[in-house]
Amino acid sequence: MKDNNETKRDDAYLSKSLFVRGVRCHKSLYLQKYRPELKDEVSEETEKRFAGGYEIGDLAQGLFPGGVLVPYDGLSHEKQLEMTVNLIAQGCQTIYEATFFYNGVFVKADIIHRGDGGWDVYEVKASTSVKDYHLDDASVQYYVMTGAGLPIYRVFIVHINNEYVRQGAIEVDKLFYKEDITTIAKDKQAFIVEEIARQRAMLKGDEPVIDIGPHCEQNYPCDFVGHCWSHIPSPSVFDFREIGKPDGFALCRQGIVKMEDVSPDILGWRQKFQLDGVLHQKNHIDQDAVQEFLDSLWYPMYYLDFETSMEAIPPYDGIRPYQQVPFQYSLHHTDQRGDELQHDEFLAMPRTDPRKELIEKLVSEIPDNACILAYVSGFEIARLRDLACWFPEHADKIEKIIENTRDLAAPFRNYHIYRWQQHGSYSLKNVLPAMLPEFSYDHLDVQNGGMAMDAYAAMNQTDDRAEIANIRKSLLEYCKLDTLAMVKIIECL
Ligand code: SF4
Repeated sequence: MKDNNETKRDDAYLSKSLFVRGVRCHKSLYLQKYRPELKDEVSEETEKRFAGGYEIGDLAQGLFPGGVLVPYDGLSHEKQLEMTVNLIAQGCQTIYEATFFYNGVFVKADIIHRGDGGWDVYEVKASTSVKDYHLDDASVQYYVMTGAGLPIYRVFIVHINNEYVRQGAIEVDKLFYKEDITTIAKDKQAFIVEEIARQRAMLKGDEPVIDIGPHCEQNYPCDFVGHCWSHIPSPSVFDFREIGKPDGFALCRQGIVKMEDVSPDILGWRQKFQLDGVLHQKNHIDQDAVQEFLDSLWYPMYYLDFETSMEAIPPYDGIRPYQQVPFQYSLHHTDQRGDELQHDEFLAMPRTDPRKELIEKLVSEIPDNACILAYVSGFEIARLRDLACWFPEHADKIEKIIENTRDLAAPFRNYHIYRWQQHGSYSLKNVLPAMLPEFSYDHLDVQNGGMAMDAYAAMNQTDDRAEIANIRKSLLEYCKLDTLAMVKIIECL
């Protein structure tokens, strides 16, 4: 998985990652080789995602314990190749990061293992299924390895099995699923040969003229978006939101790029609100529908928001890979309209299973007769259902909470209220500043759920008490603002 050879300047030289980049877009490959300074800055989130990928790669080595690692750091390409040749010659059964070079293409294989039928190759991915670009990745690997003289028996993509439920220590053979793609890798060989030739020819010429398109976002965003999309104005045809939005690329091909140049005739009813907002700063309210929503609520009123973590490697028993696990909540409440606002909250201590303490505190704080408001309540309800499965002793109480939960996002999702500053989104982060400009997340260290997830992960990785205290403060401030925002929105309706 560690294939970082993009800096080498040679028209003919390709690595596995360069090749896969070129399959998506020749311009991306060209820029990566010759204009890497144009690349977007890598966000902390992306860096952490890569770090997580390495951790999964290391864990997957446990599928074939006792192998020998050919390190990338500290060894030249030549030394890595030499070490691989020697290990194979010495009869080594399993090699991690084995290194091969053929026809100017450099690859490192996550795991190769000598089985009864010959050498098998295992390429490890953190996803829960095989993606198209994984097949290109493994197929170019097959091309290089066989070209370099290693006969390959089978090729596998190893990915996360999202049906695995942790019980006790991680069972590596159950956490990972090995998908045999040998036939596909063989069938792709003609394409690999042709594509390598196409990429080399392209790299000898000028920067290719390639327009922006769906390929820029395919699977994951290209890291030259900032450069290639800099001519797109804001708001543009790509900024329409929600079901029914037009195909921005099709409009671009017709020369329509600015949102204001789009004819309302081709828009869905939601996008018409958005366009009206941009053209005329027009707000909309269906007072009867809003009143109907308000009439469905009652006191005591509780405003609930969870923050969750989501890890590829389940941290505790009963958890699946990438399952959302609540580690924090904020709960504002009032007994009657006009009563003083109360606040309760929970945030797990570092490196503890948060679930039991969280649900015990939550069910003790919400009375059976409460109306519970959440913003996009499907998320909170799904977490509550998980908690009921993990702690059946609280299932009845949790079911009551679910039954009494109402979704504060509903009037916004249904466009019963629309402020033009929402820019087509009913997310709390857009609705709050549109309705109450004095409320903002801008001053907070943690400003959204993704950042909360990262902060929680950072808190679990440090022993520095001051850092833990700082992170806790940031998380508590953020989650508290989410429920306070709901209180303020209700006051505005
Ligand atoms: S942003 Fe799009 S057009 Fe530009 S290099 Fe990336 S994939 Fe190609």
